[in-house]
Amino acid sequence: MKTSTTSAEQTRALGAALGSVLRPGDVVVLAGDLGAGKTTFAQGVAAALGVTDPVTSPTFTIVHEYAGTLPLAHVDVYRLDNLGELHDLGFEEIVDDARVTLVEWGDMVAPLLPTDRLTVRLELAVGDDERFITLVPHGATWRDRVSALERSVDALGSD
Ligand code: ADP
Ligand code: MG
Repeated sequence: MKTSTTSAEQTRALGAALGSVLRPGDVVVLAGDLGAGKTTFAQGVAAALGVTDPVTSPTFTIVHEYAGTLPLAHVDVYRLDNLGELHDLGFEEIVDDARVTLVEWGDMVAPLLPTDRLTVRLELAVGDDERFITLVPHGATWRDRVSALERSVDALGSD
């Protein structure tokens, strides 16, 4: 599905719409350039999962973990040089059946990700506050779930 937002708040709302349908074990890749809104989107997801701690960029720490209605791991692989470093961090253990995992720049580490995953691609647009956002399902289960999500996003009334 493709949509667009015209404010950080709208991107958070879209993240929250996704967050409300997430289940333990889900992996969501956040793709897009610096400043595209990956962390902003993650804040919306976290809010919908009942996370009350402030959600900040894990760029330097690589992984932030939050306790919400579901446990959430928020990963940013931007500063890693290779897949081996991610492996050394215990990434395969972070992606766990019990929690939701969000991975900023996760498209760079696709070989370490489960086949069933959702990619959220955020792109800067012409206006300063406009973003194009595409949800790309990988694996059979996410295809149906994206259709359901599309209906709930339509109900948000975003353009
Ligand atoms: P990333 O994690 O992709 O580097 P951030 O979410 O940290 O990006 O930063 C996005 C910046 O762009 C924030 O300062 C945010 O307020 C701003 N912004 C402006 N418009 C939007 C929008 N429509 N969606 C998301 N962020 C937006
Ligand atoms: Mg970020």
